[in-house]
Order: sequence, then structure tokens, then C-alpha cells
Amino acid sequence: MLILAEKFGYLPAWLFGTFFIFMRYLIMAGLLFLVLYYIRPVRIRKWKIQKSTPGATRIFSEIGHSLSTAFIFALIGIGLAFLRQHGYTLIYQDITGYGLAWIPVSFVLLVLLHDTYFYWVHRLIHRPPLFRILHKVHHQSHNPTPWAALSFHPLEAFLEIAIVPIAAFIIPFHPLVLLAFASWSLIWNVIGHAGYELFPSGFSNHPVFKWFNTSTHHNMHHTRSRGNYGLYFNFWDRIMGTNFPDYEQTFEAVKQEQSPLGKSASRRSKETSLNAKTA
Ligand SMILES: [Zn+2]
Ligand SMILES: [Zn+2]
Repeated sequence: MLILAEKFGYLPAWLFGTFFIFMRYLIMAGLLFLVLYYIRPVRIRKWKIQKSTPGATRIFSEIGHSLSTAFIFALIGIGLAFLRQHGYTLIYQDITGYGLAWIPVSFVLLVLLHDTYFYWVHRLIHRPPLFRILHKVHHQSHNPTPWAALSFHPLEAFLEIAIVPIAAFIIPFHPLVLLAFASWSLIWNVIGHAGYELFPSGFSNHPVFKWFNTSTHHNMHHTRSRGNYGLYFNFWDRIMGTNFPDYEQTFEAVKQEQSPLGKSASRRSKETSLNAKTA
């Protein structure tokens, strides 16, 4: 998008960027939805976290909000292009500029930075009145499917990605690293909202893998609201004691086809608003 903005101008680049981000979302979420909710391989269908499936109205609402998120993310991309053009960022063009080893290092740095930023911002927006203004839209999905991956209020979408331009002021990034980061983030979000637990039994208490989040982890966040705030990693939730105490137990129950999640919709929504009030 940086190159497009410089060649064709900001407005065409914004529209193309929106189209690209939305199509990438439609393909990734659509493929996973097709496999998990229509083809439903026998081996996988037993790992559904909540037994019910949301209706078409909810799913279309998630897709609509995801389109507005694509507009916001592309707008941030355009902002980055503008700042770069005027020499305000450390984004560089020559892939060997900081040495090839810097490419994976800067990617990991950005992922860790975003994970930390997301955790603390996420906890903040669970506090009233921020929850109602910014985060309620995302929590309308009590039983998420891959389509919920980018279903945010426009202000939340802006807040979620705001760390990237800030980071570009102080850390040198190649555009390929930014592209890889955006794809990583979307893949992780789509998996987190899959509605199925795809990681194997023992994952959530494995000495290494327990530091990564799972679909069950984020599904519990959508069901109960107050806890399990992390994005990619289970680092901050473990350090700050914000994992639900029964997370690992629930993960194993899902793998044994005994998921306790998926109570009645009315009770869930009551619980969410109660939690939002007390968060
Ligand atoms: Zn979510
Ligand atoms: Zn939340």
C-alpha cells in the first residue's frame, strides 16, 4: 500500500487497500468457515466449543463490521504511507538495509509489542463506559465463528492497530514485515474465533505451548467477558492472573467432547452486561 500511495495517490490506494484487506479476510474466514461449518470432517466436528451455531443475521452483522474495519486498517496504512513520504517513519525499502537477520527479528518484535499493547488496551476497554462505546460490538458475538475475526466498532479497529504507526517511528520495518504481520494477525484472529478447538489435547498445559492462546481461551472470553484478555500469547494473562481459573480444564473438556460452554443466549447476554458493569 505504501508503494501504491506513492504511485497512484492516497484515495485510490485507500480503496485498493480496503478491497485487499477485506478480500484477504473473506478468503481466510470463508475457507475456515466452509471446512468447519459445511464440510464438517468427522474428526473435527466433535471439537465444537459451543454446540449451537449462530444464525445468518449475526454472521452478516460480523461481515458488515469487518468491512468497516478493513476501511479503518487501510486508512492507517495510508497514514503510514503519508508519514513515510514525509520522512517521519523508519520504514525502509532496501531489504538488506538493516541486514537480512533484521527481517525476522523486527517481525517478532512487532508481534510481541502488539500482543502486549492489545492485552492492556483490551483490559482498559472492558471498563465502563469504554466497553459500551468501543467494545460492545465485538462482544455481540457470544458464540464466535471465523467471521467475527474483524468485527469491531470503527473506533476499536483504530485503537487496535494504532500501535503499528507508533512503532514505525522508533523501529525500522521493511514493508514485507508489515505485510507479514498483518497476515499473521488475521490468521491468529480467524483461528481464535473459529468456534472449534483445533489444537491437540495437552496443548494448554504443555510447558511450551501453554504460552500460546487457543480458540477455547478466546471463546471463554466471548462467553463470560471478564478474563482471558490475551491475543496471540498466554503470557500476560498468566503473569497478571487474568486467565479464567478453569481455562485448562475447559480446554480438555472440549477435547473430550464435554464442553461446558454454550449456555442460553439470554443468560449469556445478561452475564456479559453484568461483567461489563463490574469490570
Ligand atoms: Zn474476539
Ligand atoms: Zn473483550
